[in-house]
Amino acid sequence: MPGIHSPEALREHFRLTPSEKAWREDASGVPLGITEHYLSLIDGQDPTDPLRRQVVPTAGENITLPYEESDPQAEEGHSVTPRLVHRYTNRAAFLVTDICPMYCRHCFRRRFTGNLAGPACSDEIARAADYVGSHPEIREVLFTGGDPLTLDNSALKSVFEAFRSRRADLIIRLCTRYPVSDPDRIDDALCAMVASFSTAPVFVLTQFNHPRELCLQSRRALDRLHRFGLQVFNQTVLLRGVNDDSAVLAELFENLLGCYVKPYYLFQCDLVAGTGTFRVPLCRGMEIYRELSTKVSGLALPVYAIDLPGGRGKVNLGTAVISPAGEGFVDILTPEGARVRYPDK
Ligand SMILES: *Cc1c(COP(=O)(O)O)cnc(C)c1O
Ligand code: SF4
Repeated sequence: MPGIHSPEALREHFRLTPSEKAWREDASGVPLGITEHYLSLIDGQDPTDPLRRQVVPTAGENITLPYEESDPQAEEGHSVTPRLVHRYTNRAAFLVTDICPMYCRHCFRRRFTGNLAGPACSDEIARAADYVGSHPEIREVLFTGGDPLTLDNSALKSVFEAFRSRRADLIIRLCTRYPVSDPDRIDDALCAMVASFSTAPVFVLTQFNHPRELCLQSRRALDRLHRFGLQVFNQTVLLRGVNDDSAVLAELFENLLGCYVKPYYLFQCDLVAGTGTFRVPLCRGMEIYRELSTKVSGLALPVYAIDLPGGRGKVNLGTAVISPAGEGFVDILTPEGARVRYPDK
């Protein structure tokens, strides 16, 4: 497996900064992994390269701030079977695997990602599919993880089959960062297999965070998905030192739209342990979003959203009621009327 998967290989490839050198691998953190493809997009001479920031760990990851948690979305508490998270009445997330070809240093699901438990076994797949089969109020299921495309096509096909055989009407979202991390995985065989489950829509959800990730191979992958009739949506994470600039985001979203990809969410970086160096203060995020909305078309503009701690769910920051609460905190009013305290720093 080419690419970088050990601290030694990392040291060999990059001239590490003091903070990168000081990073310590620990069991609760995200494993090290950079694909050959993504490596080829990184400017090795620039220690502040926005792509390098996303995949080369720094000592900041070893620091947990007082308001950070390992599972801020309380997914564990909302798990109804070992791999199925049912947090919203009409949709559920199935954690197909905890493995990714490349590990994002800002990963919000680090309680799960990279535990190396591997793909769900057939019993876990059947239990999750049975649950969805017997809960008709669930209209959509997200296949996520980890990255589901780490499964080979036949294993992935059996996951689709398990859910489709019970629910022909189920809308499926295939969540994957492969168009960014290893776009050649998106070949005709994969697209044809996914597109064959067409009794109800199958959407692809991906995560481009910077315009330079939209390289030739990525564009080819997106074009292929489009040709097979698979509509792609993008979720970007707002990250300090990566894309906390309205001009960078405008370029990203306009270029994605040009590849038939609808920018869906711009996420405020979650309060996950070890991600403090990536977080953009909320007030700054709102400012960036306001600037962005004057620059791009309505189609190119994603919803700026936050996933509230304690598993309280996603809130649209464009319409949320936010009030100062002192000492670097704000109160955010949820659609249900609850008040949630959130750091603005
Ligand atoms: C984000 C999320 C969803 C999907 O939410 P949308 O706002 O519809 O994109 C579903 N389930 C879980 C557990 C989620 O975290
Ligand atoms: S691809 Fe998703 S699950 Fe995998 S490391 Fe990145 S953010 Fe985490």
